[in-house]
Amino acid sequence: AQKRYADLRDLPATDISGQTVSLLMNAGLMADLPSLKGSGAEGVGLFRTELQFLTRTRVPRRGELAQLYARVMDAADGKRVYFRTLDIGSDKVVPYMKPQDEPNPAMGWRALRVGLDKPGVLRMQLQALLRAGNGRPMSIMFPFIALPEEFYAARDMLFRVRDREAEMGRVVPEELSIGAMLETPSLGFAPDSFYNACDFISIGGNDLKQFFFAADRENERVRKRYDTLDTSFLTFLERIIARCAVANTPLSFCGEDAGRPIEALTFAALGIRALSMRPASIGPVKHLIRRSDLGELRQIIQRARNEGHTSVRPVVTSYLAHL
Ligand code: PEP
Ligand code: MG
Repeated sequence: AQKRYADLRDLPATDISGQTVSLLMNAGLMADLPSLKGSGAEGVGLFRTELQFLTRTRVPRRGELAQLYARVMDAADGKRVYFRTLDIGSDKVVPYMKPQDEPNPAMGWRALRVGLDKPGVLRMQLQALLRAGNGRPMSIMFPFIALPEEFYAARDMLFRVRDREAEMGRVVPEELSIGAMLETPSLGFAPDSFYNACDFISIGGNDLKQFFFAADRENERVRKRYDTLDTSFLTFLERIIARCAVANTPLSFCGEDAGRPIEALTFAALGIRALSMRPASIGPVKHLIRRSDLGELRQIIQRARNEGHTSVRPVVTSYLAHL
């Protein structure tokens, strides 16, 4: 598939009216990085940092992580990498963490909740990230934030680590962009001050959708009942898009849906200007965006909603079929 879209690799995802969408790739391993060139991704919109923790029998060493993150940045060769801090706990059991016996692990003690309650590992990871940056501009985002205070606490921790590094004579990034992953509906209703405080926001659609519809993302039986293109979910996304626009805060979408053509085109039509996806999805999504008129698609979507459609999937599918 990559071959088929090779001619598009160096072209922007610009629609026929001149609107451009940034297409980035998701990664989690050094081995993913060669796809950056091959896919034509503008950068790594989500670098998941769990794998190095899940595949070890003990907590990885700071030096080892710093080396890996540095290699990732080297391989990105000046393109942005959005590092997402550790998102483990509960269901993602690591051998060196006491298993938590929780009835709902997805809603349990996970991700940043662990990082804030037991800051040792997160602090070490932040140090490793800053050392890897070695003065280069960096983007770091915190997962699974349900309250603005959690973001502020994590950001303070990052600032403290940075200042400490500087005191020790290490080079720290002059440009440090700090973002929040919006994965719980509560953040959609956070005060304006939160939207202003974030350097960027990235929607973690996999989690956001599971909490929006109260349907476990791993449970096929219930997951399939709910459509990402249901107008209730789109109305919620529009709210987030509008709030980010007012705050002038860049917004991206990095769940699996970003790489599904029908979903991706819908998000772009609603105004999301950055999508991060599996590298193999970049070609197909770009191909469709370049043939679309996002403004026209937006009108088609609005009309369907006005007519009372509960999902816009049929109209977007038919629009794409006629391109
Ligand atoms: C998400 O929830 O959409 C996301 C990108 O993070 P993860 O899939 O790692 O939970
Ligand atoms: Mg998530």
